[in-house]
Amino acid sequence: MFLEIKGIKKSFGAGESYVDVLKGIDLEIEKGEFCVLLGPSGSGKSTLLNIIGGIDGADAGSITIQGEQLGDMKEKKLSLYRRKHLGYIFQMYNLIPNLTVRENIEVGAYLSDRPLDVDELLETLGLYEHQRKLPNQLSGGQQQRTAIGRAIVKNPDILLCDEPTGALDYNTSKEILKLIETLNHKYGNTIVMVTHNDAIKDMADRVVKLRDGMIRRNYQNEQKIPAADLEW
Ligand code: ADP
Ligand code: MG
Repeated sequence: MFLEIKGIKKSFGAGESYVDVLKGIDLEIEKGEFCVLLGPSGSGKSTLLNIIGGIDGADAGSITIQGEQLGDMKEKKLSLYRRKHLGYIFQMYNLIPNLTVRENIEVGAYLSDRPLDVDELLETLGLYEHQRKLPNQLSGGQQQRTAIGRAIVKNPDILLCDEPTGALDYNTSKEILKLIETLNHKYGNTIVMVTHNDAIKDMADRVVKLRDGMIRRNYQNEQKIPAADLEW
């Protein structure tokens, strides 16, 4: 199995502010899979993504990527692993304001031993004509395309997306999700994405629902997802 999430538990705080966020998450994701995480606000979706990405540690359980357990890696190796093999896309684009579209994307290739061809990537992202523009000369959708380019240019094993379309209107969101689907097919990156956009049901290979710290549903692409399960 490519990505194995086993018995993950996580709580925050103590006393009155104690929250038991993840109460034992088990999930297996295959290489190249496009997996979507759904769940109400505060259900621990971002926490789980951060644990998969090695940004945050779990209280119990393990994350194993291609047979290697994240918890066993020394800090330096983990940091290198994150830079080389994990891509992150957030709701906020966090582009570098004084770098062009192309330069912002090239920053992402830093440390990668197998970067994608930037010209081809710019073409796929629909940014070729805009490559010399600065972020403030772009629409929100174009800025997010640039941020996606920065995350994917290193050709990461895993692309973690935390509500990547949260700041965009419905149609632009759909375009961005379609673009991520295209990249998933083209480059075969494994994707774990949190989103509320219902267009995702036609794109995802797996849809997982989190609630009260547990996985309550786990649908695979051949299963029809009841409409009620796509909303909260
Ligand atoms: P989601 O992404 O599903 O909205 P989060 O994973 O962001 O949920 O948060 C889950 C719960 O954990 C929330 O109650 C949140 O307040 C709490 N939480 C997340 N990160 C921290 C932190 N660093 N310190 C304290 N509480 C946190
Ligand atoms: Mg979140």
